[in-house]
Formats: sequence, structure tokens, C-alpha cells
Amino acid sequence: MTVIVGAGVAGCMAALFLKEEGEEVLLVDRSGVPASGGSGAAGAFISPRIGKGGPLQELTNEAFAYAQAFYRERFPEAFHTTGVLRIPKDDRDEGRFDLYEPYNHRPYERWDAARAEAAGYRGVPGGFFFPEAGDADAQIVCRTIAEDLGLKQMEVKRLEPFDGGWRIVGENGLIEASRLVLATGHESDLLDLRYMGIKGLWGSRGDYATARHFPVSMHRDFSLSSTREGRVKLGATHVKDPAPCRVCDGRPLAALEAKAASLTDTSDFRLVETFCGMRSGSRDFFPLVGPILDVKRILREYPEMVRGGRGELLYLPHLYILNGLGGRGFVFAPLMAKYLAAHIVHDERLDPRIHPDRLFLKWVRRQRH
Ligand SMILES: Cc1cc2nc3c(=O)[nH]c(=O)nc-3n(C[C@H](O)[C@H](O)[C@H](O)COP(=O)(O)OP(=O)(O)OC[C@H]3O[C@@H](n4cnc5c(N)ncnc54)[C@H](O)[C@@H]3O)c2cc1C
Repeated sequence: MTVIVGAGVAGCMAALFLKEEGEEVLLVDRSGVPASGGSGAAGAFISPRIGKGGPLQELTNEAFAYAQAFYRERFPEAFHTTGVLRIPKDDRDEGRFDLYEPYNHRPYERWDAARAEAAGYRGVPGGFFFPEAGDADAQIVCRTIAEDLGLKQMEVKRLEPFDGGWRIVGENGLIEASRLVLATGHESDLLDLRYMGIKGLWGSRGDYATARHFPVSMHRDFSLSSTREGRVKLGATHVKDPAPCRVCDGRPLAALEAKAASLTDTSDFRLVETFCGMRSGSRDFFPLVGPILDVKRILREYPEMVRGGRGELLYLPHLYILNGLGGRGFVFAPLMAKYLAAHIVHDERLDPRIHPDRLFLKWVRRQRH
């Protein structure tokens, strides 16, 4: 049996794709409900990345192409394809949109200010409108998967390898797994994963009741969803402070509300629910998908690696990670989970852009200081 620790979008998607490959799976989370971490706070906008090209934009947009079709087909009730209007962040960003345009490889329209105003956003220069994009109901997606596959509530305290698998030790018991997938988001202290550089970033989302009708979603340095059943979602993840509660001072949405008010009339917005959570990113902002190195053993057997010497990459057996999905967890998770399942079950080669090994050599050489 494969145990997946963490029932956020990463863990749920890993479980789903492994199950579809015929594996027996068990999802484990400290919470009895899925998506209790960063995933439950997400606005879960599924939109492409814009920019001047480059490997991260390419990978994100491969994942976007897969994700929008995946959610539309598999979660039609929970994915709302209203399109997303991407507005420049400031004057400098506006100037760059012409440079970005050749890298929009998915269908898009160039909207002017009048078109953006008709959609509810005033004083903006327009932007790119991506009709395939939309937003998912984060909790419904994760809950649907977890209800189907089952979720065991357990706070994992320790992981112990044994011949042929892992013991997953909680306060009140243990589970034996022949294989383990770690999908614990920003909490990465169950094993030595320092080389991956996993870091959390806080964010908040507010759901507001409003009589206003927003036909499309909008993304700038925050996101505002289209209206559904008299509600909109407003969210962003940008708080780098390690003590976010001190920064937000009990009003996590104040800065977001001010930004939204500068773009549209929010006078009738009434806060219904607040969500806060952490997304987790890797050192180079690419996802982390694949096997996990046995750092202790490598350093013991090849101490010269820290000075640039040769050594072998040794792995912790039967152990994998799906993490580092950054601010686009719902965009990345389906394709990354598909790749992970194909690797685990069919031994398919992992794309080097997402393989966690890519970060090890640089990290190990920094250990001599
Ligand atoms: C405010 C906000 C807005 C966002 N907006 C978007 C968006 O619009 N589009 C998008 O694609 N992404 C968005 N994101 C990012 C996205 O939410 C994350 O990338 C994604 O949720 C990460 O999922 P995850 O499964 O890796 O982590 P998480 O959802 O954090 O899940 C990790 C799980 O592991 C469990 N866990 C950890 N340690 C243990 C343990 N020891 N024992 C048992 N269980 C454990 C936790 O309880 C948790 O449920 C947003 C994030 C935030 C916070």
C-alpha cells in the first residue's frame, strides 16, 4: 500500500493518479478534512503565467494546458471557466505586455480599457484575457477525491524505514506502508529535506457577498473571482514575514480590500468568510516531484562532495515527494501527480526540471561553510 501524507491538493492528486494506475492508496492528514492547509485557503485560480518566456513559464503553461482540461472534464461542477483577465501590475508592467505577447501560447484576447471597464474594472489599461482560465472550488475538489479514496486522520510524528517500506508513526498508532509519498506543503521537517529549500509564504483570502456582477475573474498582484451565487473570492499570497499575524494585526484582508477598492466599487462587499494559509515553494520555484535523497548517508560516504568532489546520489528507498507548487498549486498538481504516478508505477523518467536532485549539488557545496 502507498501512503500519502498530506491531503492538500498535492496529496489528493497524487492519491488519485496512483489509484488510477491500480495502486492501493491511503491518504493521511492531521486534519480529518482535506485541504485544511494552504489548499483550503487558495482562490484556486487556474490561469497561465505571462512573461518573456523561460523554463518556469513554459512548465507552468504546460501544467495549465493540462489542468484546465482536467478540471473541466473531471470536476465540471467545481471548475468555473469564466476566463481570467490579467491586468498589468503597474506602468512598468504595462509597458512589458507587448514583450510578453509572443509567449502567450494559449488562446487569449487583448482587452483595452473600455472592455475591462465593461467587466467591472475601472482605471486599468486592459490586459490579456484568457478564456480557458477560471477558478476551482478548492475544498470541493480535494473533498471529492478524499471521499472517494478515504482519509485517515493522524498527525505524523516520525517516519521510520524498515525492510520493504516505511513505518508512519503517529501519537496513537502506526501504519506500515510499502511506499510513501510526502505531500506536507510548507511543513517539511519529517526528514532532512534542506537541499530542496522548501519555504512557506502566507496568504489570505476573503469570500464576500455582493450584489455586483463580475462576469470574469481578474488577476493583478491579487485575484478577484467572477461572481457566483452572489459571492466573490479575493485573495493573494505575498506575506513574507515569518509571523504573519503580527503583520496583519487581526485584519489579514485589509491590504487586499484596499487594492480591490482601487480597481472597482467594493462598497457593498460584505465579508462572509476569511481563510489564511501557506503556500510552499522550492529554492528555484520549480515543483519538487520524485524520489528523495538520503542526505545523511551521502555526506557520510562521500564527505568530499561538499568540496566539489565526486559521489553517488543515494536515495531513501520507497519514498517520494510532491511539493513546491508555489502560488500555482492547483495549476501544477494534476500534471505533476500524473508524472509522479507514471514514475512510481511504470518507472518513467522524470522531467529534470521538476526532479528534486537538481538542487542537491549546489546545496551540498554550500555545506562546507
Ligand atoms: C491565500 C492563497 C491563495 C492561493 N491562490 C492560488 C491560486 O489562485 N491558484 C493556485 O493554483 N494556487 C494558489 N495558491 C497556492 C496553493 O494553494 C498551494 O500551492 C497548494 O495549496 C499547495 O498544496 P499542498 O498540498 O502542497 O500543501 P497544503 O495544502 O498545505 O497541504 C499539506 C497538508 O499536509 C498536512 N500535513 C503536514 N504535516 C503533516 C504531518 N506531520 N502529519 C499529518 N499531516 C500533515 C497538512 O495538514 C496539510 O493538509 C494559493 C495559496 C494561498 C495560501
